[in-house]
Amino acid sequence: MHGPRRFLGEIGLLEGQVSFLTFEVRDPGAVLAVPVDKLRRLVLRDEGIGDLILRAYLIRRSLLISQGAGFRIIGSCYSADTRRLRDFAARNRLPHEWLDLEKDRQADHMLDQLGYGIDDTPVVIWRGGEVLRNPSNAELAARIGLLPATIQDRAAVADLLVVGAGPAGLAAAVYGSSDGLDTCLIDGVATGGQAATSARIENYLGFPTGISGTELAERAVLQAEKFGTRIRVPAEATGLGGREGHHVVALAGGGEISARTVVIATGARYRRLQVPRISRLENGNVYYAATQPEALLCQGDPCAVVGGGNSAGQAALFLAGRTPKVYLLVRSGDLGKTMSRYLVEEIRQDPRIEVRCTPRWPSCWVTRNSRRSWYGTTGPTTARPSRPATCSCSSARRRTPRGWPAPWPWTDAASY
Ligand SMILES: Cc1cc2nc3c(=O)[nH]c(=O)nc-3n(C[C@H](O)[C@H](O)[C@H](O)COP(=O)(O)OP(=O)(O)OC[C@H]3O[C@@H](n4cnc5c(N)ncnc54)[C@H](O)[C@@H]3O)c2cc1C
Repeated sequence: MHGPRRFLGEIGLLEGQVSFLTFEVRDPGAVLAVPVDKLRRLVLRDEGIGDLILRAYLIRRSLLISQGAGFRIIGSCYSADTRRLRDFAARNRLPHEWLDLEKDRQADHMLDQLGYGIDDTPVVIWRGGEVLRNPSNAELAARIGLLPATIQDRAAVADLLVVGAGPAGLAAAVYGSSDGLDTCLIDGVATGGQAATSARIENYLGFPTGISGTELAERAVLQAEKFGTRIRVPAEATGLGGREGHHVVALAGGGEISARTVVIATGARYRRLQVPRISRLENGNVYYAATQPEALLCQGDPCAVVGGGNSAGQAALFLAGRTPKVYLLVRSGDLGKTMSRYLVEEIRQDPRIEVRCTPRWPSCWVTRNSRRSWYGTTGPTTARPSRPATCSCSSARRRTPRGWPAPWPWTDAASY
């Protein structure tokens, strides 16, 4: 409820995207409408009020994400396209609700009402009831306002093109554009890179009380845009060539960007869990991140975080507040060898986290008659039990009732 001296809006307004918040006037009064470009200028130039508005907008966005507000995705947890859309929404910090066709009767009902069948899924229901049938990430991005029509509108050849919008790419874009270079920044998935998936970063220079990865990313995007950087997401670079003395970067799906200088800041790719058939579980039970969307999927179930580094420690602490029990599975007997001391201390003091050390992990095992599934890995991974594992693994089926390839182990609902 907002009253006198309060302000409306959310972060989408500042980033030139669709705003995910609507308001209704209940009592008579006066509302001062501030044009969006003036609001942006205020936030970026006035330290006091700008920071207040920005913090409020960031908090509103994370509330909207945790409430499952925004658009709806209807699809099966075993569908690769559903997973792709959910990943894209999560990485871009887009509020949305996912209705799982395998579990949610409301999903069936809604599909019937819209006149769509299972084969049409995943579908995205945009506000006002517009339906996008299995949209590509680029189509969804365009609908939301992430994808500007053109990125190279100012100069035929940009001074600087930065490929990859993680912390390194964003920093390069800020420095380039603040020095007056005509700068473009592209990313194949989302701004913020790996850092945006971190629940809390405590060792970043200038943030003594820590900062969430999401906030770091949003602030950096605004800072880059303030200096004139043009950002395009999703835009994956697929090739680098030359023409008439400058560089030409080819983009997935067609198109290219010419630049005098190209900075490649494409970061790292995750090492995946070396477990047979793990790819089937990655659709719905094994995640390579522990952020709000993963926490929502895990709530109500105990979960296991696999890994002994700082990312695993941060994930365990984050999930401990959101799930009934967290098992932190590490190979080394001494957590302090691989994790920063402040994290080890916090984990030791948290009764909701149980650390299990073992020098050698079985490649994959599922406990019978318990609610846990654990998976060994060498990187930070969040594993949620596929089901209360009172099932027999030998009764594995090949497809789910909805016809998607079944994860392993799979049993039908009647077995629980
Ligand atoms: C869960 C988690 C927690 C972390 N916590 C901390 C912490 O507390 N402190 C700390 O110091 N570090 C932390 N890190 C590590 C830190 O996030 C990384 O070191 C940092 O993000 C690296 O930045 P980068 O820009 O080099 O690469 P990345 O963050 O990996 O960004 C690279 C970007 O390039 C994009 N890209 C890749 N290929 C292409 C292409 N062909 N075309 C277009 N775009 C492309 C990717 O989509 C990605 O967005 C954490 C990492 C994770 C995953």
